[in-house]
Amino acid sequence: MRLVIGNWKMHGTRADAVALAAQVAAGLEAVPAWDPDEVRVGVAPPFPFLEAVGAALAGTRVELVAQDCHQEPQGAFTGWVSAPMLASVHVRRVLVGHSERRQHAREDDALVRAKLEAVLEAGLDPVVCVGELLAERDAGRHEAVVERQVRAALEGLDPAAFARVVVAYEPVWAIGTGRTATPEQAGAMHRSIEAVLAAIAPEAARIPVLYGGSVKPSNAAELARTPGVAGALVGGASLEAASFVEIVRGVAEASAADPRSA
Ligand code: PEP
Repeated sequence: MRLVIGNWKMHGTRADAVALAAQVAAGLEAVPAWDPDEVRVGVAPPFPFLEAVGAALAGTRVELVAQDCHQEPQGAFTGWVSAPMLASVHVRRVLVGHSERRQHAREDDALVRAKLEAVLEAGLDPVVCVGELLAERDAGRHEAVVERQVRAALEGLDPAAFARVVVAYEPVWAIGTGRTATPEQAGAMHRSIEAVLAAIAPEAARIPVLYGGSVKPSNAAELARTPGVAGALVGGASLEAASFVEIVRGVAEASAADPRSA
């Protein structure tokens, strides 16, 4: 399976979100290479707009994705949103461990694991984000850091859950910086993550691994052709329907050219 998710972060108004969702859905209809069974597409609006965006996407093949959730199903947690709440507004997948949460909300591996379990428990599918800081890459520790994050998120899970999990490799130095990992850097890390997943469990070896970090129309197809890259998690370029649709087109064309490469 390939997957492209647009992470809208904390941008826009309700009207912007509804318009963007409608433009994305309409734009994708006009992409002949896009087979929604081969390349799934999702958008992750801010929490207050989930329901309105879900309504705008009704009858389309674009999935509703949430950017985060709390690890508890309910309780006295002012300002948070739980996974069952997201399920009740028809969210399909939830990002956990995005680097902006790890950095700004100080989420550690244990909390990311708890959130991932909460997502599964609510019947939703988690997208666990991993990735190294620039200093970690410069110190040659990038593969070890990402291995630690992947193992903390997934080791010991019920193997049946692996069919529902997606991993997104997002080098932190490439997020929102305009600096993208080269296909060689992405390919090397994806091979390393594949080895870690296979060591965790045979079922985990089939987990799709997305790439994220300044993906744009000009580099999406090349990244998607990189062996092991099963799609993209897109931030900035997903805020404009035309560029997001172009990214999906690039991934769809790469998938059509080599359906077994990811
Ligand atoms: C992201 O936030 O997941 C991301 C990859 O952002 P950007 O595409 O803007 O680098």
